[in-house]
Amino acid sequence: MTERKDQLAANLAKVEERIAAACAAAGRAREEVTLIVVTKTYPASDVRVLCELGVRHVAENRDQDAAPKAAACADLPLTWHFVGQLQTNKVRSVVGYADFVQSVDRSRLVAALSREAVRAGREVGCLLQVALDADESGRGARGGVAPEGVPELADLVAGSPGLRLDGLMTVAPLTGPYAGREQAAFERLMDLSTDLRRAHPAANMVSAGMSSDLEQAVAAGATHVRIGTAVLGVRAGLG
Ligand SMILES: *Cc1c(COP(=O)(O)O)cnc(C)c1O
Repeated sequence: MTERKDQLAANLAKVEERIAAACAAAGRAREEVTLIVVTKTYPASDVRVLCELGVRHVAENRDQDAAPKAAACADLPLTWHFVGQLQTNKVRSVVGYADFVQSVDRSRLVAALSREAVRAGREVGCLLQVALDADESGRGARGGVAPEGVPELADLVAGSPGLRLDGLMTVAPLTGPYAGREQAAFERLMDLSTDLRRAHPAANMVSAGMSSDLEQAVAAGATHVRIGTAVLGVRAGLG
């Protein structure tokens, strides 16, 4: 194995151990939690190595980086998740490779996603990004819809051609009442998921937890964790 492959294998093993331990502590089966590796800022060669090591779900947050990377890895059996704030002028490109968009947070974006998914003949899995730090504007600092806005946006996605409503996503807030209280934030997301599933039973994905808080997310009931740094290393600059 190359040095990079050794390193990624060792990091993946550590993350796998953490997920397994968190599942055991929560009395959950390991299969209930899917690992998504966030490959943003890292090259397509790393994505390829991760795939060789058994990773099947990868995530990106910027279309400019993700589009060429996904094209370079089009031969691999990977599921691509888009997890970044998404401008409507990038939607056509994102729909070209993303199997899931986890950052759906406004009706204009839903309309654009639906239009482009239909045009491309694709079905895009949608997760609503919930902002637990939303202010009076109803939006969070890093995107997301306020909890109050979830039912209406969910109905809109569910009724949009080319889109499939799959669940909810959040990022633990850095400000507001949930700052520093990751587990409470993730438990709130689970409550919102329970409400959502009354109206949309199939929308059962709960995407929460990153490198620093995956244990709290698994304890709260997350079905998907999004791990970047703990697998690939600390990113240079903003990522
Ligand atoms: C970067 C990112 C992650 C991964 O964060 P790490 O702390 O590197 O594990 C997860 N979710 C989103 C939305 C991200 O942008």
